[in-house]
Amino acid sequence: MATADVLIFDTTLRDGEQAPGNSLSPEEKLRLARQLDALGVDILEAGFPAASEGDYRSVREIAAEVRRPVVAALARCHDRDIDLAGEAIGPAERARLHVFISTSDLHIREKLRVTRDDVLALVGSSVRRARTYTDDVEFSAEDASRTDPDFLCRVVELAIAEGARTINLPDTVGYALPNEYAAMFRDVRERVPGSGGVVFSAHCHDDLGLAVANSLAAIGAGVRQVECTVNGIGERAGNAALEEIVMACQVRHGALDFRCNVHPAEIYRTSQLLSYLTGVFPQPNKAIVGRNAFAHEAGIHQHGMLQNGLTYEIMRPEMVGIPRSTLVLGKHSGRHALERRFRDLGYDLTETQLSDVYRQFTALADRKREILDEDLLALLHESFHDAPEEYQLTHLRVVCGSVSPTAEVRMTGPWVGERSSRGTGDGPIAAAFTAISDILGRQVEVLSLSLRSLTPGRDSVGQVFLQAKIDGKSLSGNGASTDIVEASARALVHALNKARHADRLESSSLNSVYLWGV
Ligand SMILES: [Zn+2]
Repeated sequence: MATADVLIFDTTLRDGEQAPGNSLSPEEKLRLARQLDALGVDILEAGFPAASEGDYRSVREIAAEVRRPVVAALARCHDRDIDLAGEAIGPAERARLHVFISTSDLHIREKLRVTRDDVLALVGSSVRRARTYTDDVEFSAEDASRTDPDFLCRVVELAIAEGARTINLPDTVGYALPNEYAAMFRDVRERVPGSGGVVFSAHCHDDLGLAVANSLAAIGAGVRQVECTVNGIGERAGNAALEEIVMACQVRHGALDFRCNVHPAEIYRTSQLLSYLTGVFPQPNKAIVGRNAFAHEAGIHQHGMLQNGLTYEIMRPEMVGIPRSTLVLGKHSGRHALERRFRDLGYDLTETQLSDVYRQFTALADRKREILDEDLLALLHESFHDAPEEYQLTHLRVVCGSVSPTAEVRMTGPWVGERSSRGTGDGPIAAAFTAISDILGRQVEVLSLSLRSLTPGRDSVGQVFLQAKIDGKSLSGNGASTDIVEASARALVHALNKARHADRLESSSLNSVYLWGV
């Protein structure tokens, strides 16, 4: 049997982004879309244009700029959804319209409040309408794994007859077991006329931790597209993790008879970018991309590793693009050394980016003797400006300890000159935040704040991620410094710059609420 090609359909920007805490601005989505292109995904689902004005615009921007992958947009089986999605993907080199409707009796009755006949009528008219925008139409039967098999076959047959080229049968609620999920595909493919002419697709959620196992089982049952997300992000327990599917295929290619086009060496970079943008990092033991995924600390393992790497290592960190942590740069390293190190890490910087990062690098080198790769990556991610840096922190001084904490802050902004303020709070970070929001006159409510130390050692850089409601809008920000109060203040200023930028764009995408999804 010949090795099958399996298409990787990435839905990080749609199914992943719609989960709470993952909301991204249009600029951030575009940045991630470029990296997904570099990663080599075949289909990039860019969003759900009917969900909000911002989503519509962001899908259109991605369709216009990212040329290699097929760009897909999601739509319910509603005329307006389909028209908006169709227009949004208009500029794409290759566009796909993805329509979906629930087919399980539970969903038909409780969610849609219609009949099976109504669903059939909507499937027919919607696939037909989608075809007026593109020949590449995907149809998804939401909650397929809990749908009556006879009805599922009727729906799929109709969608194929109306011209859908890809048939996605999701395990929307993460309920199926691998053998059941595979059997469903075998059954449908065997019974439905025209099945041989379309691509079947798997879309699995991880509520029982089986999303990847179910996706692999589906491939064994003839599925030739899997839908997945980077870091496995998504609703509830998330989606099947792209990196796990790709690496299973790489490492076990003898046993799993399929190939895919994703470049494994871009996996870590993509995972990190997504984490920096959302402020949510995978748990340390997360397969492939977690912080400890390649660490061997237990003595017995370490001994084995020293003898021969293969004793405990089934893949090497370099395969997924994890930089080796080596002591590289210091105070006397020049621009060239910095540029070269970034190139080794896989980043070609523009002149402007390099100047920006170099400025921050020298400031950091004053405080920290040895600068490691992790520090460099943090600087780089900080220098990616998602929004113009209209507000800048120019001075910060805090007093805390046995006295009640106070902070003194000076900032520059779109106004002329500097403004300063003093704030108090329960702790030094709270005091700094009070002073900053006072200068800007904005309502700031911090929803979460987390701190990571990037490298070992006493002079480690602290990276702060925060999510805040600024005048009612949810935004994230990050900042890095050897001083955690300063890192926190920078993270807040970053979020405030994004808030100002969002006001300008009058974007509604930042607070878009999704009620539906596959
Ligand atoms: Zn989903």
